[in-house]
Amino acid sequence: MPLIRDGIPASPGIVVGPAYVLRWAVPRVPHVTVPPKSVPKEVARFHEARKWAQDRIREIQLQTAERLGPVEAQIFEPQILMLNDPDLVDGTVAYIEQNHLSAARAFELRMLEYQSEWSRSGHPMIMDRLNDLLDIELRVINRLTGLPDPDFTLSDADQRVILVAKDLTPTITVQLDRSRILGVATDAGTRTSHSAILARSLNLPAVVSLTDLSDRVQNGQELILDGRAGRVIVEPTERDKEVYRERDIKIREWEQELLLLAHLEAVTPDRQPVQLRANIDMPGEAETARVHGAQGVGLFRTEFLVVGRSAAPDEEEQYRAYRHVAEAFPHQAVFIRTYDLGGDKFPLFLHMPPEENPFLGWRAIRVCLDQPDLFRPQLRALLRATAHGDVRIMLPLVNEVRELQLTRELLEEEAHRLEEEGIPFNPGYKVGIMVETPAAALIAPELAQYADFFSIGTNDLVQYTLAVDRGNARLAPLYTPFHPGVIRLLKMTADAGRQAGIEVSVCGEAAANPLGVFLLLGLGITALSVGPSSLPEIKKVIRSVPLHEARRAVAEALELGTPDAVTEALTAGLGRWIDLSIFGGRWNLSPEQ
Ligand code: PEP
Ligand code: MG
Repeated sequence: MPLIRDGIPASPGIVVGPAYVLRWAVPRVPHVTVPPKSVPKEVARFHEARKWAQDRIREIQLQTAERLGPVEAQIFEPQILMLNDPDLVDGTVAYIEQNHLSAARAFELRMLEYQSEWSRSGHPMIMDRLNDLLDIELRVINRLTGLPDPDFTLSDADQRVILVAKDLTPTITVQLDRSRILGVATDAGTRTSHSAILARSLNLPAVVSLTDLSDRVQNGQELILDGRAGRVIVEPTERDKEVYRERDIKIREWEQELLLLAHLEAVTPDRQPVQLRANIDMPGEAETARVHGAQGVGLFRTEFLVVGRSAAPDEEEQYRAYRHVAEAFPHQAVFIRTYDLGGDKFPLFLHMPPEENPFLGWRAIRVCLDQPDLFRPQLRALLRATAHGDVRIMLPLVNEVRELQLTRELLEEEAHRLEEEGIPFNPGYKVGIMVETPAAALIAPELAQYADFFSIGTNDLVQYTLAVDRGNARLAPLYTPFHPGVIRLLKMTADAGRQAGIEVSVCGEAAANPLGVFLLLGLGITALSVGPSSLPEIKKVIRSVPLHEARRAVAEALELGTPDAVTEALTAGLGRWIDLSIFGGRWNLSPEQ
């Protein structure tokens, strides 16, 4: 019997080939102390190694920019900044000066403290960044202990292999030689870790979170890796290989078809147009979104401006970023979300206090309203961007009318100032909210009186409704937008928006899931926003499903009492219009999986 391991699909593609198990680790450093007179020399050695590591990562960043583009190159920015972070640098120097530790040991200890603090947070976005720390550690410690910069080119592999490892860091991933590597399988990792993002950019099929695969596989054993379904089969039978070859052909045909869709309309067969927009995390992604056929940006997350930075960005820098995106879509709406900090995103400069339950804590609009010095420049930058396109201001995690009113007051004050200063903006600017909590969905009729639009954030709405952490892999089977409790809240929000005459869109992952699209269309939601890479697939679903059929199936599903019954009913309904085997029989629903 072949060994089968299911993990998280991180980058699509099916490959068959021999395993190459890559074992690597940051070298352990012995506990060495230095005589007091050598302390200044040790501090200087640390600074030299830190600068060297920074230069080396910058070099890799430049190569990445040339090879993959500026967005991917940005991934290395936090690592470079981190090596200047006063907490890290001063903390290491203090260990050398006060405890007379060798530079390598002092740095290792400081990194261990970071790692345990970050791991303790348990939050997906921070966990994703853990292997960024490994990258830094590996370089600085190798430099200090006289080891060469590691070579991950697999030059000893004599044929194309499937790389199996416990984990990969971003710099290891970009250095992998595509001519030698067919695909990647790792024990650790998440879909949103930097290594997974880079694997997708490199078109390298990948499955992550395979628990113990690297211990179970020997070099040279044959593997099938299915990056779309998230499965690895060790020593497959001839029959397995045949099944996967057929599946590969089917998927390639499907992908060819998707390529042709970019310039076709997002319209159902019964001629209901759907606004299909893109979610982006960085300004540079606006172009990718346009190329993939997005009709505007439904969610521009602005946290990239603050996370991992030691100072808040000024109004000018923000204005340039927002304007860039607005100008990429001159005739279409661009929804820019104000900072969604807290929860899983902590900027270094805010010194956010540790919280027992950060997702139920000081987060999003709560932080912004408490920190006018942070919020006002953002609102001013957003107002100024309204002069360059249809920019809509979107507030995250709103729970009460008051939060919207307070933000409107701040906006009015800033608009007044801009007017006095003669700085252009659109006085008819629009402000709306993300519906992400059950409370917001329940009072949607009241909120609709003050909001110009609703955008439903299903990633959070699902976690708050079901009390299921969106990043907890163990709870992944419970994390579903098809729970009757969730779909009823979605319906209430959609109905309230329709009655108030405002647009209701969905920008959570449910909109990027074929079954989710079927559900949302059936609830009468005809504005969706998804990651650029999901646009073709979602457009294909829209173009395949008659709206009245979705409505009929969803009306029936709304009567059902369990998540399984709802999922089954929707699957049966959608399965009449589209071949669902393409999706590998799995519905990848959790945003962090
Ligand atoms: C959501 O919660 O659905 C959403 C889109 O916001 P984020 O994933 O950034 O929390
Ligand atoms: Mg959210």
